[in-house]
Amino acid sequence: MYKDAWRKIVQANSILLVSHVRPDGDTLGSVLALYSLLKSLKKRVHVYNPSKNLPKHLNFLPNFHKISNEVKDFDLAIVCDCGSTDRTKICLKDKAIINIDHHKTNEHFGDINIVKPKMPSTTLVVYKMLQKNDIPITKDIATCIYVGFLEDTGFFSYGNIDKKVFKMIGKLVKSGMNTKDIHTKLTQSLPLSVLRLRQHIYNTFSLYKNGTIAVAIIENEDLKKSGCEIENTKNMVNLLRELVSVKLSVLLIKMEQKGYKVSLRSKGELDVSVIAQKFGGGGHQNAAGFETDLNKETIIKKIIG
Ligand code: 5GP
Ligand code: MN
Repeated sequence: MYKDAWRKIVQANSILLVSHVRPDGDTLGSVLALYSLLKSLKKRVHVYNPSKNLPKHLNFLPNFHKISNEVKDFDLAIVCDCGSTDRTKICLKDKAIINIDHHKTNEHFGDINIVKPKMPSTTLVVYKMLQKNDIPITKDIATCIYVGFLEDTGFFSYGNIDKKVFKMIGKLVKSGMNTKDIHTKLTQSLPLSVLRLRQHIYNTFSLYKNGTIAVAIIENEDLKKSGCEIENTKNMVNLLRELVSVKLSVLLIKMEQKGYKVSLRSKGELDVSVIAQKFGGGGHQNAAGFETDLNKETIIKKIIG
């Protein structure tokens, strides 16, 4: 499968690297790792993301400025970290697709599907494909892969991290990437607006069911007051999971037009992807999400139920 995918990539004339709406380090790390590689092979390649605003804290990723929301002509799409095609916000009908992902809810929409739910990040699935095809890992490629891994595992905290994964990370370190610099950029580079929005969450969150469920809501005006863009809300749901009693944390974020984007996080065995799927979304055991037009009271009631 890894070899078939690579053969298809080598044969393609023009490639579109596709990442998901409200991007994170895993989807962008995956497409940018592939971008570095394919450029060095003199391929015609474009990096696409549907969002107007990209997460600024990731702008140190090599070739970050190449990401565009324009869709250039292409004969092969490589879709990374997307459980379903609606996360791409483009029409991929009648196109050749390689689907590289690690969501167990993945819909296998590609001609070739490299879907590895046991992998803690999509970037590591990309890495595995390169390894299997004897492609050397440069410092730039390693940086992209490591950033995706760190973001999706909460810095080695969750996801399936076994000794094989540590071995892979060791090989990335060998490429010369600067782990200290990467960690500083990811954890000590927040704008003031984000701290203000966190303050809003701390001031307003509610607890249910003996403190096991925490819920916070971010409305349009809360975003405005803090000076944040919706992109800055990524992973803010994690803050409430830090509380000792909390087993499930929920963050509702009002979307620009109508409805809410809902993020779910859990500890241990509680599988939030099952909840997200009931609302038409998806994700992983400990991190999942969905979008809905339901009102906030109904969403909260249904989740608690
Ligand atoms: P987040 O809450 O950070 O947006 O997403 C957590 C996880 O759930 C990610 O792995 C993401 O891919 C998945 N996820 C979030 N929103 C959606 C959605 O609307 N649909 C699907 N299928 N998955 C989602
Ligand atoms: Mn991911």
